[in-house]
Amino acid sequence: MPDQVNFGDELVSPDEKTRRVGAVFSSVARRYDVMNDLMSGGMHRLWKDRFVNRVKPRAGERILDMAGGTGDIAFRMAQRGALVTVADINADMLEVGEERARQRSLAGLSWKVENAEKLSFDDASFDAYTIVFGIRNVTDIPAALREARRVLKRGGRFYCMEFSSSDWPGFARLYDAFASEVIPRIGKVVANDEESYRYLVESIRRFPRPEAFRAMVAQAGFARAAAEPMLGGLVTIHSGWKI
Ligand code: SAM
Repeated sequence: MPDQVNFGDELVSPDEKTRRVGAVFSSVARRYDVMNDLMSGGMHRLWKDRFVNRVKPRAGERILDMAGGTGDIAFRMAQRGALVTVADINADMLEVGEERARQRSLAGLSWKVENAEKLSFDDASFDAYTIVFGIRNVTDIPAALREARRVLKRGGRFYCMEFSSSDWPGFARLYDAFASEVIPRIGKVVANDEESYRYLVESIRRFPRPEAFRAMVAQAGFARAAAEPMLGGLVTIHSGWKI
């Protein structure tokens, strides 16, 4: 782990990054769901549906939804009968999620504050591990990938969906302008928090390209590590298996 890591475009100590990421999500928790719709034009719902279709959750399976936040992915998997543990480092995000789950009377969910880099679960506890729009916020990504592998059973599946920068020339420029100019302004108007949304945009820009992240997943010991880019690589579904 280097002495200095990126918090968005700024270099800070690893502990400071973890603390500041915590502050970002505590600040956005109550407005997180409405902001997702505004920032993606509702498209995050389609990406999440597609992601869960790839995971193929089965009734009774134990799934860890890491960095699960307010529960969007966990709800979709629980509706298919999976037993989902929603884990996140941020208690404020989980609190909003638990409230939403109660309103929907959803069963099969449990909630736990956890740091993806050092999980409290036993080895081989889960059939599948999911992490959506979460891993780019984790300070020590290789440590989180090793932990994912440790807590999966033999044959367990790893699935991650994350943003990156697009490779489509015209679209990349358009998206960049939208991300750096429009998203922080929406954050200011809707959530009165321009800085947090500026961090979210910068963290996307800094996340490795799909092929580089696929190599990190393989490096952590997952077999058949694969990357399925969508929208010119703006969003990619990564997968791997524990042999
Ligand atoms: N997965 C949810 C979704 O797709 O709507 C939430 C994604 S939200 C953009 C990112 C989440 O990652 C936040 O809830 C944040 O607290 C969580 N997070 C950041 N660093 C983490 C860490 N080291 N361990 C666990 N969760 C973390």
